[in-house]
Amino acid sequence: MLLDGKKLLLTGVLMESSIAFHVAKLAQEQGAEVVLTSFGRTFRITQSIAKRLPVEAPVIELDVANQEHLDTLAERLGEHVDALDGVLHSIGFAPKGAFNFLDATWEDAATALQVSAFSLKALSVATLPLLKEGGSVVGLTLDASYAWPVYDWMGVAKAAFESTSRYLARDLGPKGIRCNLVSAGPIATTAAKSIPMFDQFARWGEHSPLGWDIKDPEPAARACIALLSDWFPATTGEIVHVDGGFHAMGF
Ligand code: NAD
Repeated sequence: MLLDGKKLLLTGVLMESSIAFHVAKLAQEQGAEVVLTSFGRTFRITQSIAKRLPVEAPVIELDVANQEHLDTLAERLGEHVDALDGVLHSIGFAPKGAFNFLDATWEDAATALQVSAFSLKALSVATLPLLKEGGSVVGLTLDASYAWPVYDWMGVAKAAFESTSRYLARDLGPKGIRCNLVSAGPIATTAAKSIPMFDQFARWGEHSPLGWDIKDPEPAARACIALLSDWFPATTGEIVHVDGGFHAMGF
């Protein structure tokens, strides 16, 4: 099994549609022990969704914008696992105003940047006391090389997120820890449906040589599993596209 005996912290399980739910399910099937995070009023939802995994996983509180949550994370995590082999960052949020590029306020943009980009650094540092040499941090992006319809300040946050991953690769590499991203095509999750006019992304498959099913989070989840495993031992600062091949096409 790909993740035999590995201990993982997985953020971002909200519903069964969440990419992170599929990572958690596949990780357990591949032999890993997983701990989930959630926060605020979604905490109970995550707890009930955690029961639908092959093995019910513990859920601990983490709002990445809450410094106290971050400061106490390693200690609270230590009640469930003695060390970590991997961390999944599957977190994205921007206020509604951030999806209107010219009218957005700094507060809209700042929230998007803090929760969706800076949080990769914050989560990595918070889990560093438990992360073992050979460990892996994995996050999810939507290709920030382009200006997309409606993605707006979330797109800017993803550009910062991708850059954050490269700097983490630089600073965690000497500790033997990798940091990589999966650049997924559009998937109809709760976060995606909160983006105004997300249905514009439905045409993704028409431009993808392999086609694309916006209802299937499993291809992106499988890539996360591969990056969390020992099968990319010399890869860091990388972005693996799981998008049906969309990124490689001119038309
Ligand atoms: P989702 O709504 O299922 O998951 C988003 C998660 O972010 C939720 O669990 C939510 O609780 C969490 N979150 C939001 N604010 C947070 C905070 N302050 N602290 C901690 N957690 C917080 O949606 P998803 O599509 O599975 O999103 C997971 C990741 O995948 C995000 O980074 C997203 O940008 C990325 N992504 C999604 C798509 C897509 O089309 N769905 C495409 C590419 C990348």
